[in-house]
Amino acid sequence: MKIAVLPGDGIGTEIVAQALRVLNALELPLEMETALVGGAAYEAHGHPLPDATLALAKAADAILFGAVGDWKYDTLERALRPEQAILGLRKHLGLFANLRPALCYAELTHASSLKPELVAGLDILIIRELTGDIYFGQPRGRRVAVDGHFPGAEEAFDTMRYSRPEIERIAHVAFQAARKRQGRVTSVDKANVLETFQFWKDVVTEVHREYPDVQLDHMYVDNAAMQLVKAPKRFDVLVTGNMFGDILSDEAAMLTGSIGMLPSASLDKNNKGLYEPSHGSAPDIAGQDRANPLATILSVAMMLRYTLQQPEAADRVEAAVRAVLAQGFRTADIWSEGTSLVGTKAMGDAVVAALTAATKTTPITKS
Ligand code: NAD
Repeated sequence: MKIAVLPGDGIGTEIVAQALRVLNALELPLEMETALVGGAAYEAHGHPLPDATLALAKAADAILFGAVGDWKYDTLERALRPEQAILGLRKHLGLFANLRPALCYAELTHASSLKPELVAGLDILIIRELTGDIYFGQPRGRRVAVDGHFPGAEEAFDTMRYSRPEIERIAHVAFQAARKRQGRVTSVDKANVLETFQFWKDVVTEVHREYPDVQLDHMYVDNAAMQLVKAPKRFDVLVTGNMFGDILSDEAAMLTGSIGMLPSASLDKNNKGLYEPSHGSAPDIAGQDRANPLATILSVAMMLRYTLQQPEAADRVEAAVRAVLAQGFRTADIWSEGTSLVGTKAMGDAVVAALTAATKTTPITKS
């Protein structure tokens, strides 16, 4: 298995360095190659996603991505801005399924804006379709209205659309993920108003026939937004379209309290994936050994589970993260009275130590 390592900008290099130490500690037979991406690639090669980086990403089985961006690039033309690299990778690699777990660790329940009893033990997987919907539908643009409430007025419009194969493949991802969890899928739509999402609901229901062991329910997006703050633990896997997923995944992420703890995976049809923390390059704390590397380390666990098919190793990395939290180690973003404040590297040290201690008792299966 080959891993393309793309640390990127800002804290990206610091957090990826710690994630790599964790991956190396597992002693799996992996080949790794690093390349520039984002602002760092623009500085060196004049483009945020150089051909060589894209070629490496295409050739790899999985991509470990840090973060890209810096405010100093805000004046560049859009195509050359660092964030275009991530959009380019999604497009060129066909990464259509975005998986974002929202997991609330017992030690961090106080960091949530909800009452501890609502979030303690929370473990949701949000699956967002990433390449279709109103974000990419054509036609779109501005024009003079020929009908509607104000004929002759200037108006803007977008097109919401989903094809059957697009819905089928994301539904398969959701049902298969549910099989590895509690076996429940909630499909979120707006079928009461939108033709696109009545079709979505129909197709998800059809695909469900292949997964009789998985429980499926449907929920309108407005209700889902409410339930996420009212009773978030009722969800296991939540699958939805690009726009609803964009909004609900951020809402769910905030239930856990800290952006520094949230991993993500973007998968193609063969489970090849790009794994990255849900946060950005945090230029305000870059180079200060203050970034929380746990979201990136947990992204490595997702890589082990979804692409490398090493569920035991994934469990071990997640257990090591839980162990360091139980031991009281905290980076500044999750620190609270009575816990030990550590930097990025010391947090990496703690996870590697926890992993190594656990590995000594039970060997990891190599593939
Ligand atoms: P951000 O996520 O980088 O930072 C938001 C806040 O969270 C900051 O205060 C930051 O210090 C803190 N934070 C983020 N990650 C942290 C971590 N691991 N540990 C501790 N604190 C952390 O978002 P932003 O400030 O809006 O954006 C900064 C840059 O990142 C921008 O250029 C933006 O475009 C880019 N960005 C990139 C990605 C990506 O690479 N996928 C995603 C989002 C934003």
